[in-house]
Formats: sequence, structure tokens, C-alpha cells
Amino acid sequence: MRRHRRAKIVATVGPASNSPAMLKALFLAGVDTFRLNFSHGTHEDHAKVHAAIRALEQETGRPIGILQDLQGPKIRVGTIKDGKIEVEAGETIRFVLAGAEGDRSAIPLPHPEIFAAVAPGHDLLIDDGRVRVRVTGLGSDFIEARVIVGGVISNRKGVNLPGTMLNLSPLTVKDRADLAFGLELGVDWVALSFVQKPSDMIEARGLIGERAGLVAKIEKPQALAHIEDIILLSDAVMVARGDLGVEIPHEDVPGRQKELVRACRLAVKPVIVATQMLDSMVAAPTPTRAEASDVATAIYDGADAVMLSAESAAGRYPVEAVEMMDRIIRSTEQHKLYHSIVAVSQPDVEHTPPHAVAAAAADLAVAIQCPAIVAYTSSGTTAARIARKRPAVPILAITPSEKVSRRLCLLWGAHSVLADNVHTYEEMVEQAAARARVEEFAKPMDLIVVVAGIPFAQAGTTNNLRVVQVGA
Ligand code: PGA
Ligand code: MN
Repeated sequence: MRRHRRAKIVATVGPASNSPAMLKALFLAGVDTFRLNFSHGTHEDHAKVHAAIRALEQETGRPIGILQDLQGPKIRVGTIKDGKIEVEAGETIRFVLAGAEGDRSAIPLPHPEIFAAVAPGHDLLIDDGRVRVRVTGLGSDFIEARVIVGGVISNRKGVNLPGTMLNLSPLTVKDRADLAFGLELGVDWVALSFVQKPSDMIEARGLIGERAGLVAKIEKPQALAHIEDIILLSDAVMVARGDLGVEIPHEDVPGRQKELVRACRLAVKPVIVATQMLDSMVAAPTPTRAEASDVATAIYDGADAVMLSAESAAGRYPVEAVEMMDRIIRSTEQHKLYHSIVAVSQPDVEHTPPHAVAAAAADLAVAIQCPAIVAYTSSGTTAARIARKRPAVPILAITPSEKVSRRLCLLWGAHSVLADNVHTYEEMVEQAAARARVEEFAKPMDLIVVVAGIPFAQAGTTNNLRVVQVGA
């Protein structure tokens, strides 16, 4: 079973999609990696979904990625008298550290880190930026603010502070418990929300080690200021446009998306473009023209994956949303301008042998117009280095590691398969040719390009390249 596109689809699981039958329908429609959103749901819910996805792998014989998304230090207002208050531009309101039933002179904001870090002139954005207030004064237990954009503040609404560096651990007590649970289940990826600085990544890595890939969600301007180090410390990156679009102006998000996708490609890290891609499909069976264009833009940018959030988690048309995404990706990748557009953001030539060999393999495969590049990859990096060239030839990634086969479900262009360890060079060549035929990447007598690192199973080497003829 193979997909006829290069970019991958990530779909968030939720009430609209958490049954085994729906998960199967979504996988068949095109989902490569499922996101378990730990901002919602119980451990029991997530364990059931995890088990259903692993059963689906057994049934279909295809690896499927599972990404655990940690809630992170999401800031919220407390509870307000009568559930909500309406504030008007120009009026002065107050936030307090503690208090049960808040009103406009004492809106509970139970996060001491904010009181320690905020300063006059900083903005607080409430409810995805619908309400904006500016700090005018503060004490140790209160913040006084003038309303800039009025609206309704209701119970437990989210608060963003784009201009404030908060002294917060990226992992709350809840995140730590969720993380331990996810690692126990055996998730393939852990996504860290609201990353602010490189040390946040180091802290998470200390807990996760190599048990799962670490995804940096870029949704704070503070992260953009240290982006190169954050990418270096990650295994993959998410352009989390939902919160990013609250914290930075709307008009700056598309350019940042392009920068981030390019930087990840340079660093050989898969990058996911996320949030509101087909948002109107939460309630309608077709997207807007602008949404179709947004998905296509991410593909032209060269993203490894595009993601569905509410569309698949809570919407009325989860399967249709995946099908639509699949169709937009395929149509974009087949467009005559696709390869030339993606080639423009090609990173400069790298002179290290692994990169040069991978790049040569991609060029060679295109030059001889062969049907597949077979990559032997124990850590996934050989496949990722080839994918970085975004070749017009599909990549069949053969790995002895189940973990790696699942992680490759996020990588552009990779069709991953599990295989027994090979011990000799000849054995590898034979297996490559055989798998290329079985997986229907090549026909008898076709030429294929085989790339490997020798000795085998030594991660990080990509030093061998061979043209092989598939047997009769
Ligand atoms: P979320 O992250 O859906 O967990 O908020 C993605 C985003 O902010 O875009
Ligand atoms: Mn977010």
C-alpha cells in the first residue's frame, strides 16, 4: 500500500475520530501520523487510541506515526462571577493572583510567573487575541491594565503574553505526568508547546532521551529569536500558527512559515505546518478557496507535513478533510511548476560526505530517470538527507528499526518499510531490489539507486551509492 504524494498528513484525534473504525477510515484516506492532543482527553482515552492505531498497523502492514502533543504552560484566567465580563476599549481593569469569584477589578490570573515578569507597556491577549489589554501598573499581587481592544473575557480563557519572557518550565506538572504516560505507551514523537528558549529543549530531552523524537512547537516570538539553536536541538519542528498568529501579527505569519520551513530543510529536520489549514471543514464538507491555497502554499514551501486540528478532532467532516488535503497535496506536487518552485529553496551544497553522497544519489536517480531511490537507514538520517534534495524520484526507506519506520511517517517523500538486518553488501543489494519490486516501486529489469551507510547500523554514515538492476 503506497501513497501517491510526497508530503505527509498529520491528523489530530478527538471525539470526532477516536473510534477504531474512524481511525481506520482516516488512515485509508491518507493520514500518515496521528496527533494525540494532551490538552484534552483522559489517559484512558489516549491509551485506547494508541492501541487502535497499533492494531491498524498490524492489520495494514504499514507503519503509522503517533505524536503526543503536550499542553505546555498554557496560561488561563480563573473563574469570573457569572462566567464572563464584557470590557470596553479605554477602561481600566485589574488582574489579581488569587480570588475565587472575579470581577473587572479583580480578574483572577493564577500564574505567579506573570506577576514576576510583566512590565508596564506589555500586552496581555485574551481568548486567542480577541481582547487586548496593556499593562499600566502593577504590584506584587495585582496588574492594572488599560483595555486596547474590548470584548468578552470568560472563564478559563487562554492568555498570551507576546512581549514577556516568562520564567516558566516548558513542562508543567501535568505535562510531566502525561509525558511519562506517553513514553510508557510508546509514542513516536513528543511535541513541546510554547518553547521559549534552547534550554527548554534541553530540559525536555533530559526527560525523553532517545525514547521518542522531540518536536519543537514554534508559537512564541521568543522562540523565533533563538530559532537556529532550537531547530538544532529538535528532531522535528511544528509551525504552530494558532498561537503564533496570536503572539505575532497575522501579516508576519506567512513569511515566518517560509523561513521556518527553509531553516528546517537546511538542518535536515522534518517540519509540520499546522492549524486552520482547512478550518471551515469543521462545519462544511468543502474548504474555502483560500484554505485550499493555504495547503498548497505549505507544499510549495517544501513542508514535510501538513496538519489537521479541529477538522479531524472535532469537526463534522474528518474523513473529507483528510481526502481534501490528500487531493490538494497530490495536485500541487503534480503541477508543472512544483519542482522548480521547491528547487528555489534548495539549501547550498554541503561538503560533508554524507550530504554529498545523498545529494548525488538524488541527482543520479533523476538523471537516469529511475523509478526509486532505496535508502538503507538505521537512524532515518540517510533518508532525510536524500529527502532534503526533494528529488522527483520516490524514496523507499528500508530500516531494521520499527521506531525509525514510524518516525519516517513525518518525512517528505519517504515510504518506510521494516526489514531484517542485512550483514553483507550483496545481501543488501539483493534485498533492495526485492523490496523495490514487492512494494511496487520498480518493475523487473528497472534500474534503481541504492544508498547506504557502511558499516550497517552505524547511524550517521551515508557513504555508499550504487545503481542496481532489478532482477527479471
Ligand atoms: P495547539 O498547537 O493546537 O496545541 O494549540 C498548535 C498551534 O498553536 O497552532
Ligand atoms: Mn498552540
